[in-house]
Amino acid sequence: MNPQDLIRKKRDGASFSDEEIESFITGVSDGSWADYQITALVMAMFIHGLNQTEQNALVKSMLESGEVLDFSDVDAPKADKHSTGGVGDKTSLIIAPLAAACGIAVPMISGRGLGHTGGTLDKLESIEGYNVRLTKSQIKQTIKKCGFALAGQTKTLVPADRKLYALRDAASMVESVPLIVGSIMSKKLAEGLDALVLDVKTGTGAFMESLRDARALAEALVKTGNDFGVRTEALITDMSQPLGKYVGNALEVYECLKIMRGEIDEAMRPVLDLSIELTARMLVLTGIASNVEEASAVCLEKIRDGAALEKFHQNIELQNGNPRICDTPEMLLEKKILQIPLTAASAGFITAIDTRRVGEAVCGLGGGRMQVKDTIDYAVGFACAKKLGDKVEKGEEIGTIFCRKKAHADSISEKLRNAYKIGSEKPQISELIKEVVV
Ligand code: URA
Repeated sequence: MNPQDLIRKKRDGASFSDEEIESFITGVSDGSWADYQITALVMAMFIHGLNQTEQNALVKSMLESGEVLDFSDVDAPKADKHSTGGVGDKTSLIIAPLAAACGIAVPMISGRGLGHTGGTLDKLESIEGYNVRLTKSQIKQTIKKCGFALAGQTKTLVPADRKLYALRDAASMVESVPLIVGSIMSKKLAEGLDALVLDVKTGTGAFMESLRDARALAEALVKTGNDFGVRTEALITDMSQPLGKYVGNALEVYECLKIMRGEIDEAMRPVLDLSIELTARMLVLTGIASNVEEASAVCLEKIRDGAALEKFHQNIELQNGNPRICDTPEMLLEKKILQIPLTAASAGFITAIDTRRVGEAVCGLGGGRMQVKDTIDYAVGFACAKKLGDKVEKGEEIGTIFCRKKAHADSISEKLRNAYKIGSEKPQISELIKEVVV
């Protein structure tokens, strides 16, 4: 099938057969389609969408573009959690060890941050020596020894997504339900899972800002997972402010370690609550627990008795990182980093936070990448002292900028300050967990 015919067909709004989708994905994977042809067809898919049959064919073809992981000899239920991406969204670092401590095998293949959102791999690489470039057999060995592995996509796992995602990112084609479903589900299904819990973000820091769009995405993800025989659920969760206290790679690892050590403060609490809820659902979907309440109590106990932290310690050692950070999380905070207060422009209540801007501001400090090739400064970031609904006085500190030079803070502080809306009335605060999609 030649590219021009397929592009014309979707351009004119027609539906593809399974064979046509497969031919497209083969062309992406073997390099026989030019980037401009791929981009044209993906843009046509972005505009006209895909029906459910096309959606499943896309996921299947992408999944089959590479190898899948086989954990049939790992004697534990396999489950994972995946988030659609946000700001300060660090729950993977707690969920993977916590789920492992509860008896689940977690092959967590994660991504890097791009644009305003952070990525688990970048956070992990802020740990001295930590290796996320594991081969298939290293992933399996690590899971056998400590119950979970946190790794990047291998060369052979869903190669079609690597190419498609890069082009979608470069040509503004990320925010499309069928394309996101194809991308996320092909990778997650390649992990050989029994169960999957999805954290679909909504709000000013999410790809899907509106609840309606987030719901459509969550429903499509859940349907696809279940159609492929993986027990799948989604939570729609709030991203109308950064999750928890810190935004920035090393700072977020620090926050997770403090939480797992029980040294938690109020600003960190949503990270713990969401991590427990998502892990509890993994326990229920894999049949380890019979309901979410019981599972949540088990999870909380595994945090309190140090079992989750112990798992993380073992994993860091196995993935060549320095596990002493588990005893002394302060090792993650570079001494040379300046801490510059960000102050409120007026008095009142924080009524809205443009969370995307907060993420972009941290990128502006060097803490994220605007392009795939950008390098990251792991130590920089932002601490959110005040959250939605908090009362502030004019000139009061609403957050702290962690940066290398004062000039760096100066260059982003206006943008950050403008990300906070301050009004005279205390706003209604949105629930952390908005909906469950089963
Ligand atoms: N995360 C992914 O892995 N793919 C997308 O398309 C969007 C978010």
